[in-house]
Amino acid sequence: MDTLPAENMRHHQNFTVASISLLSSNPPKPVSGPLSATFGSASGFPELQFFLDPEGQHSLNFDLRTAQLFRLGEVQSLCVSEGSETIKEKTYSKGVTVQFKEEEESSSFHDAFEQWKKEVVVQGSTLPNGTVSSSKSKFDDKIEASSAKMYFHYYGQLLHQQNMLQDYVRTGSYYAAVIENQVDFAGRVVVDVGAGSGILSLFAAQAGAKHVYAVEASEMADYAQKLIAGNPILGQRITVIKGKVEDVELPEKADILISEPMGTLLVNERMLESYVIARDRFLVPNGKMFPTVGRIHMAPFSDEYLYVEIANKALFWQQQNYYGVDLTALHGTAFQGYFSQPVVDAFDPRLLVAPAVSHVINFTTVKEEDLYEINIPLKFIASVGTRIHGLACWFDVLFNGSTVQRWLTTAPGAPTTHWYQLRCVLSQPIYVMPGQEISGHLHMIAHSAQSYTINLTMSAKMWGPGAEQGGILQTSSCRLDLKEPYYRMSQPQAYSVAQDQQPNQLLQSQDLQLPSLDEDGSDFIQQPSNDSSVPIR
Ligand code: SAH
Repeated sequence: MDTLPAENMRHHQNFTVASISLLSSNPPKPVSGPLSATFGSASGFPELQFFLDPEGQHSLNFDLRTAQLFRLGEVQSLCVSEGSETIKEKTYSKGVTVQFKEEEESSSFHDAFEQWKKEVVVQGSTLPNGTVSSSKSKFDDKIEASSAKMYFHYYGQLLHQQNMLQDYVRTGSYYAAVIENQVDFAGRVVVDVGAGSGILSLFAAQAGAKHVYAVEASEMADYAQKLIAGNPILGQRITVIKGKVEDVELPEKADILISEPMGTLLVNERMLESYVIARDRFLVPNGKMFPTVGRIHMAPFSDEYLYVEIANKALFWQQQNYYGVDLTALHGTAFQGYFSQPVVDAFDPRLLVAPAVSHVINFTTVKEEDLYEINIPLKFIASVGTRIHGLACWFDVLFNGSTVQRWLTTAPGAPTTHWYQLRCVLSQPIYVMPGQEISGHLHMIAHSAQSYTINLTMSAKMWGPGAEQGGILQTSSCRLDLKEPYYRMSQPQAYSVAQDQQPNQLLQSQDLQLPSLDEDGSDFIQQPSNDSSVPIR
């Protein structure tokens, strides 16, 4: 029961107003819009903020604990509040008249005003442990608070959003899928599930969406708001809502969901579950989902170099005289430790030694609970005689548009994405002959740190005379934590300098020393973080 009380309240709700007039100016001067009005509680109490310019630089704030709203007409309202109470004598009250474009907008603004006022009562009352227990969400039930905190902290940083935006295979596929299928967006209500920078919301708006609700739980929601305000023609049809899709309320149902919830091996980060929860909470029956379907593909691989590289990492612990200490007692543990890390890198598809099998997850029908435990039976026929070092995995997703069906793939051999591919390496390789059957299971169990424990078993079936007995010749298995991958992209790479930018021409003096690659290659090669707290996508 480790909920952060403020967490539940920390969301926003936005409205567009046609114009507002400050009552203090004499005569009242209307500021014409469209301007935005935002309900929020970032200051620790519920607040209504009117932005007086499209850039969001100047705002007029009302503390909802004291503010009142009156209806002056169908599309006109008056908002008044007492001035600050922090100084002894109350300052004068402030007030604005607000002009809406439509009556509907005005009504939902009034409803929101009442709701946000009520939230004060919930927050202010004494609840057990000071938490808003009734609104403890499905997310908080499954996910450790410390994991969620790190996760949303990560996505709250612009550089990580940029990393995803700069994956052009990823972002380009989303753009194409949306623009090629404008019929699915034009005039429709869209929810962007985990909007991040808001890029997919902006794509949906480009495709003519009637309105987009961009739901984002991390602090990135504030940047998304800025980005959207910076694109006012599209932005006027987008509302950023800060909060988890498990918690927030939306004023209307969506015709289509758009999201990028895929982690390594598709399921890492457990965001697919949030995507499915968003479907059940926000999508109209038979509404569309972009992406619609995901598939995990798996095939056995043979990679002697990788195997030796991993096994050699543990050699350190075979020293019998490390400053006079015998380290060998820990060799076995270290060896197993290295083989419990899934390897993330881009590999040559020629390392695969059998046609792949696939596991399909249909996002439009899968139950959230079905993602807690995924058990995939494996069956392959070896195409060559070789040593199998484990199972290689990748995924793809389908945008099942009404006009064009588009796949986004992370397969080996296809243009590399920031997901790369993933390999589970067996500490005991399996020998196979061409035509021999390999069977097994990939069993994945979700854990509360937003990832999965993977159990892999691979067996070589009996082969040749006596095979009809159906026996197993050799079995090998391993247990891995998807949360603790080994990023292998820091392989020594040739540091090639493009013809037109030779560094020596830029150096005036021969005495200037460039750090050599051999000594410190890492300075040159941009490496992904090895920090295991970092979600890999
Ligand atoms: N849609 C953006 C960002 C994708 S990354 C893009 O395609 O570039 C996934 C985003 O979803 C992150 O910003 C993360 O903070 C957010 N997210 C993850 N789980 C969420 C949840 N349960 N509710 C709301 N946002 C969530």
